[in-house]
Amino acid sequence: MSEKYDVLVMGAGPAGYVAAIRCAQLGLKTACIDNWITKDGKSVLGGTCLNVGCIPSKSLLESSELFSRCQHGLVDHGINVNNIDLDLSVMMQRKNKIIEDLTKGIETLFKSNKVEWIKGRGRLLTDKRVEVDVNADGIKIYQAENIIIATGSSSADISCAPQDNEYIVDSTGALEFSEVPKRLGVIGAGVIGLELGSVWRRLGSEVVIIEAQDTFLSIADEQISKDSKREFKKQGIDIRLNARLMSAEVVDVDQGKQVEVHYQDTKGDHKELFDKLIVAVGRRPNSDNVFEKEVDLLLDERCYIHVNDQCETSVPGVYAIGDVVRGPMLAHKGSEEGIMVAELIAGNHAEVNYELIPSVIYTHPEIAWVGKNEQHLKAAGENYKTGIFPFAASGRARALGTITGMVKILSHGDTDRILGVHVFGPQASEIIAQAVIAMEMGASSEDLGLTVFAHPTLSESLHEAALAVNNNAIHIAAKKSIK
Ligand code: FAD
Ligand code: NAD
Repeated sequence: MSEKYDVLVMGAGPAGYVAAIRCAQLGLKTACIDNWITKDGKSVLGGTCLNVGCIPSKSLLESSELFSRCQHGLVDHGINVNNIDLDLSVMMQRKNKIIEDLTKGIETLFKSNKVEWIKGRGRLLTDKRVEVDVNADGIKIYQAENIIIATGSSSADISCAPQDNEYIVDSTGALEFSEVPKRLGVIGAGVIGLELGSVWRRLGSEVVIIEAQDTFLSIADEQISKDSKREFKKQGIDIRLNARLMSAEVVDVDQGKQVEVHYQDTKGDHKELFDKLIVAVGRRPNSDNVFEKEVDLLLDERCYIHVNDQCETSVPGVYAIGDVVRGPMLAHKGSEEGIMVAELIAGNHAEVNYELIPSVIYTHPEIAWVGKNEQHLKAAGENYKTGIFPFAASGRARALGTITGMVKILSHGDTDRILGVHVFGPQASEIIAQAVIAMEMGASSEDLGLTVFAHPTLSESLHEAALAVNNNAIHIAAKKSIK
């Protein structure tokens, strides 16, 4: 048995590495065990988020948006660019360099905070011991006063679309295509389907998204879902709802191989051929083989590790955070849970406000929200008011040339307290942060309306939407926004 730690963290994604750093900052002797290995055999930190998730997808979203703008968006500015050429391998190298720099950055943070990095696969044993299959170095047992499980999630697969990692791929494969597929199929019109579908559409693919649900983006505010669906259609993304996938298989065609997808909808049976197919039907928690069966750790019915609001599991001294536990599978949610647990272990008071975790979909325009949407409030019979400000009325959005979308604020009918904010438009990811701050402070829409925003900014649209809640918006016609 090696020496004892105050804290052992299993997993170095945004939940685990943040927890480990905060534990070390609080003076706790901390080690973080992680088994991520790159294709060329290197151990790296950062988990899904840095290696195959948030960061590479945003890198490709940025590059592809620039490519698309050069092709279609500059003429209006009086800029004529001829012979636009795509060098996909340079785009991919740029993405890989960003990943490398950021993962090395976490290594530096571990060193400077004195977090020990144990490279290998961990399995929780009884008595807060962890058995680690240390890469190339055999089995070792570590022990700690506290264990934090942050083993994350993996892409869910479906048996009717077996992945071969070449033609039928998950999100990781879709971040690594070496050529732009002529026809790209995507199963699932969720966050990954829309973001990665957008990347390849902008780079030239004909994109068809096949979605099982009959409503588009049911997690967002209904009005925003409808507007965004219209916009994606305009961009050439073909979204087919209410589609029941029957099978997807790689077939031989004249010039090689393609994927034949068979699905059914209300109009009948359909068969489509694609050059590549992305399966993006959700993610499942990595709770398999994370603990031996003698450990009394409870899982819920969907195999998430069961935790309370403080991320305590059914075993005292064992916590679980991030994608492996309930709640949205988002990097910032996991990181905040990591900080909370570190503080709790150090004996401090800490909590996460699960009501105010922002969501963002990084399409163009972006979609972002926090708090309740209109369907939630209607279903709860809540007394609420609505304020909407369209980006078409924003001077800054006009200057940018991105006038699609709106800011929508929902406030309590009596108290005026902000209950939810929904943004579909340019820089929605940045605007939503202001809404989160306001809501954390318990602000009313009047409070936001009384705040001075710089002109001309996109954020002014949040200000105007807040004014619109009480029919005081300056740059839109009166009354229309009052419910
Ligand atoms: P992970 O990041 O999955 O990390 C878990 C780590 O634990 C991994 O390194 C894994 O190898 C390791 N591990 C697993 N089992 C063991 C074991 N037994 N022993 C040792 N180590 C183990 N979220 C956002 O908020 N914003 C985004 O823009 C965004 N974009 C995304 C894009 C894509 C394509 C994908 C796939 C996801 C995206 N996400 C995004 C989701 C985000 O990546 C996850 O919510 C986040 O990474 C979860 O963090 P985590 O630390 O819980 O787990
Ligand atoms: P998702 O849950 O967002 O979407 C999956 C979609 O697939 C759903 O619309 C679902 O109805 C559909 N679906 C499921 N089974 C199907 C089937 N058999 N046929 C057709 N459609 C089917 O999941 P995702 O897009 O895979 O993303 C996984 C997770 O990663 C999400 O929880 C998300 O939070 C996270 N993520 C976040 C971001 C971000 O924050 N910007 C980006 C990417 C991923």
